[in-house]
Amino acid sequence: AAPLLEVKNLEVSFPTKTKTLVAVRDVSFTLHRGERLGLVGESGAGKSITGFSILKLISRPGRISGGSILFEGRDLAPLSEQEMRPLRGDRISMIFQDPMMTLNPVLTIGTQMVETLQAHRRLSRREAQDIAIETLRAVRIPSPEKRMAQYPHQFSGGMRQRIVIAIALLTRPSLIIADEPTTALDVTIQAEILDLLLELAEHEGMGLLLITHDLAVVSQVTDRVAVMYAGRIVEIGPTEQVVHAPQHPYTQGLLAALPQTHAGEPGTGRLAQIHGIMPSLYNTPTGCAFHPRCPVRIHACSEDAPALRPCGQTGVLAACHLVE
Ligand code: SF4
Ligand code: MG
Repeated sequence: AAPLLEVKNLEVSFPTKTKTLVAVRDVSFTLHRGERLGLVGESGAGKSITGFSILKLISRPGRISGGSILFEGRDLAPLSEQEMRPLRGDRISMIFQDPMMTLNPVLTIGTQMVETLQAHRRLSRREAQDIAIETLRAVRIPSPEKRMAQYPHQFSGGMRQRIVIAIALLTRPSLIIADEPTTALDVTIQAEILDLLLELAEHEGMGLLLITHDLAVVSQVTDRVAVMYAGRIVEIGPTEQVVHAPQHPYTQGLLAALPQTHAGEPGTGRLAQIHGIMPSLYNTPTGCAFHPRCPVRIHACSEDAPALRPCGQTGVLAACHLVE
């Protein structure tokens, strides 16, 4: 069978008056059924744009300018808005950082869930209500029957994000794309929600594409991770390998910037920093886009862009001239 999702050489660009800005370039990855893949990097790396392009939610004039997005074997890249609509929120669901991107403040949770279900399935109100209650129970909302009659503001932030997850699960999608799903929550609640997401994805056999700036989140939840920088994947491989033996200097920098206790390793608690900032799309550096910030750059780095290639026998690919 075809993989759940196969993104090949994806390119996303935004034309402006003076030039075309390429936000995502030559991005390729595969996500198998039941697998969890992290897309990680600093803000501006192109992670969200990559996630949004799978659902064709890039706002105009931005567009997918190259590559393919095979979902269950079918290329979504050429599909029209009308052809995409039945897939969104049905076979593929999205979870955003802000629950209010999903929830309507003036409708009860029950109404929103029933309407979402009825938009995709021929169900009576009663049948839809039963599925909604069962799904609220799955995300551990206490007394779901009563809670159905309440409005979003009557729930805490963590509860609201559970409800968003429940809405994403209603149609039992085969793929969930979650963009910083816990970033707005405090640390304890964040860990609970991630555990829940992990458990549900495993239980339902769903693929999960988890977009985050936080490598600690990636190591808690994902099987594989792709590290993005300036619109490209610079390292991709099994999460264990990438987190324990990062190959690319940027990944090494991201890891060094984590409070050590997060990764579950003894450490100094010192916050190392990668100097400088992510380049803007207006002036992406020549050669390896990371070279102005790279502590180990060599002369070739400012001239030649390194290709992603396998390093050793670990199943990891990295794009760096120094990686063997
Ligand atoms: Fe650093 Fe050069 Fe590797 Fe880029 S290619 S990460 S600049 S060493
Ligand atoms: Mg983002």
